[in-house]
Amino acid sequence: MVMGGKGKSYCWLSLCLLGSTIVNIYFLSDLYIDGKGKVSWSEEGAAKAEEVASIYCSNHGRAYLDGVVSSFDGKPVCECHTCYAGSDCSLLSPDCAADADSGDPLFLEPFWMHHASSSAVLISGCHRMSYSFPGSTAISEVLDSHIRRLHHVAKNALTDGKYIVFGGGSTQLLNAAVYALSANLSSPASVVASAPFYPLYKTQTDFFQNKNYAFKGEASLMSNASYANTNVIEFVTSPNNPDGNLKEAVCKGPNVRAIYDHAYFWPHFTAIPSPADEDVMIFTMSKLTGHAGSRFGWALVKDEEVYNNMMMYISVAEMGISRETQLRALQLMKAILRGDGKEIFDYAFEKMSARWGKISRIFSKSKRFSIQEIPPLYCNFFDKVRGPSPGYAWVKCEREEDLDCTRVLREANIIGRAGSRFSVDDHYVRLSLLKGDDDFNLLLNHLETLVDEEGGLEAVSSF
Ligand code: PMP
Repeated sequence: MVMGGKGKSYCWLSLCLLGSTIVNIYFLSDLYIDGKGKVSWSEEGAAKAEEVASIYCSNHGRAYLDGVVSSFDGKPVCECHTCYAGSDCSLLSPDCAADADSGDPLFLEPFWMHHASSSAVLISGCHRMSYSFPGSTAISEVLDSHIRRLHHVAKNALTDGKYIVFGGGSTQLLNAAVYALSANLSSPASVVASAPFYPLYKTQTDFFQNKNYAFKGEASLMSNASYANTNVIEFVTSPNNPDGNLKEAVCKGPNVRAIYDHAYFWPHFTAIPSPADEDVMIFTMSKLTGHAGSRFGWALVKDEEVYNNMMMYISVAEMGISRETQLRALQLMKAILRGDGKEIFDYAFEKMSARWGKISRIFSKSKRFSIQEIPPLYCNFFDKVRGPSPGYAWVKCEREEDLDCTRVLREANIIGRAGSRFSVDDHYVRLSLLKGDDDFNLLLNHLETLVDEEGGLEAVSSF
């Protein structure tokens, strides 16, 4: 049979389709699991990741796939914890200062080492290369639903009927919220917070200054009369950084809008009296899972217009949050939600409350220094009254003459963050309790010595 022109082109088309299918099957079989549960393309990446993770750093450091490599064998070198040195981080430097300055949440690293397999993510070269998820969104729907489930388990926030905005850390969402809440006002908003407060509120508001808002400092300085005429945006940090208090908004009234920064509103750090249900609430993975480096936070928002404005901000600033970050966040949430989803909260609470117990025992021996008191409180998550487990010790130098408490501690080889950074006087210093075990243990040692010496000096002077 002789084929006509049309028949010939159909034949070519079929051959091309068949060819392309065969090529696709070939590549797909090379890319994906072979159907018998055996992995193929991921083997090399997984082997490299495990090889680097197994480099021995004496439990005082870690080697990373993206770390500096040794000129000797081309393998990543150990990155040692503060005060440790040597190729395997085994050397503790004598007289090294305990650095309790930053809120780096490495206290959870052992948890994730224990959950290495359920939390691991392997990212193929062709993973989500597009600017958007299907439907032109920049937000993973699955991650959105896992976040809602997590709040449900932690019993710390109501998510029904609320919108979720993702941010590059909660840091980005703080200013996105200020932008959104001040976008359509008839007059500029005064942005305030009550001291001691997290310094970034002022730094960011000043930095991104705009005709719609300005940072005006202390919330309690705004008189009731002034709320009537002025638009106010109040940052409410609950529990508070630095002192761990569960705070409420100071300013009240129809022109007042609050941004609840709930970075620490997890059973790790505080009793959860009841699930939060504010109009704008901001959370961060940094303090929930400890993955500060992934830069992922989210806001729960009641009002559609505020949500749209926040989305606009993120879109203009960032075109949405990195898909790799979203994938990692999802994997971590999945790992947390295994079983009844409570393990991480039990672990983190035990650890932080043990740290608080140790540090308060030391300070209880001192007359020169005191730390904040946090009363036991009923916790909705644990369904019982529980004690404190804050992320920071808020230390006060009780002697009038110790005007610069940070310096007093610095002389005892302890690095803290000065009270003036939190808009109060420098009789106060913040010490981070969130860091890794090495940093925390060094802090305990140096504090113990400082307080013991105080006893010695007092004994001598009263003699
Ligand atoms: N809010 C508070 C109260 C914080 O302490 C921090 C971090 N220390 C942040 C927000 C920012 O966290 P991130 O950007 O890592 O989410």
